[in-house]
Amino acid sequence: MNIYDMTLENLENYFLNINEKKYRASQVFSWLYEKRVKSFEEMTNLGKELLERLKKDFNIYTPIIVKEENDKDVSKYLFKLNDEEHIESVLMYHNYGISLCISSQVGCNMGCVFCESGKRKKIRNLTTSEMLLQIIAIERKINKRISHIVVMGIGEPFDNFDNLVNFIENANNPKGLNIGSRHITVSTCGIVPKIYEFSHLKYQVNLAISLHAPNNELRDKLMPINKVYPLEELIKAVKYYIEKTNRRVTFEYILLSEINDGEKEARELVKLIKGLNAYINLIPYNQGNSNNFKRTKNENIMKFYDIIKKEKINVTVRREFGSNISAACGQLRSKKEE
Ligand code: SAH
Repeated sequence: MNIYDMTLENLENYFLNINEKKYRASQVFSWLYEKRVKSFEEMTNLGKELLERLKKDFNIYTPIIVKEENDKDVSKYLFKLNDEEHIESVLMYHNYGISLCISSQVGCNMGCVFCESGKRKKIRNLTTSEMLLQIIAIERKINKRISHIVVMGIGEPFDNFDNLVNFIENANNPKGLNIGSRHITVSTCGIVPKIYEFSHLKYQVNLAISLHAPNNELRDKLMPINKVYPLEELIKAVKYYIEKTNRRVTFEYILLSEINDGEKEARELVKLIKGLNAYINLIPYNQGNSNNFKRTKNENIMKFYDIIKKEKINVTVRREFGSNISAACGQLRSKKEE
């Protein structure tokens, strides 16, 4: 097991179990997250015997960056994991800080028809350490701190729930990466039971729901998950989440030309969202390498936006990053495999 898979609490229990003091966990965390050592040998305050024990029980392998593409304010990284699988992360420079979009699985089983990531079925979940080390490896490379994390890369985070939760623990822990909850965003296509489960954890992170259609007929066609958890159930779960956590939710809505971007859909969307403590993030579609969908023209994006805005619903249009470097999730990896 990778030592970065362990939460602080896991590590405290580990040390207690081997008759060591609990504070050893904080010492190890400080080596991992503050001093950022790359080997156990560098942990010089643990003593020789304990060091040998740690080396026997854990590894400290970091995924390797095998490819990098840079644009003005966005960089994309392709990682090789220790079983030779590949994942990617996208780094974005904003005026408020630096955000990293990380992957949560190798491949994805959700099968959304417009998405490049779903072209390849899920091979496996990423471990907690593989999610954390995307951040740490890139921070090492750019020699800067990443301020915001979005779990919006390849994969469905709620289909990898336990590792996601441990990831959030370590990313958020002041002795871990110390990234504030409100700087962490998790995006889901709408796995309803997991939304309830997540509500009970009462995290103050941001939850984003990939909506993309305002009625079941259309959403069934775009996102197979809707046949399992249709809109009524999804909205009910989101209401519950808002009530339990007191957090505003984001609905992501990709605009696909002549598919879901008409006046009819805008009005249906208003009706669906009105009254919820939520806002809508309209996403200009990033046209992939091999898709039939077209990006909605700016003029029509603004029309769609205006209809929603007039109804006093909070709505924004997502800034586009990196369409020159295949930065939409899955695109770099799928290019490599072609
Ligand atoms: N499985 C999760 C997280 C990964 S997808 C989810 O569905 O939310 C992250 C977001 O990117 C989703 O809203 C997804 O629908 C969107 N997306 C996928 N392909 C895209 C593309 N080509 N252009 C713009 N957004 C895209």
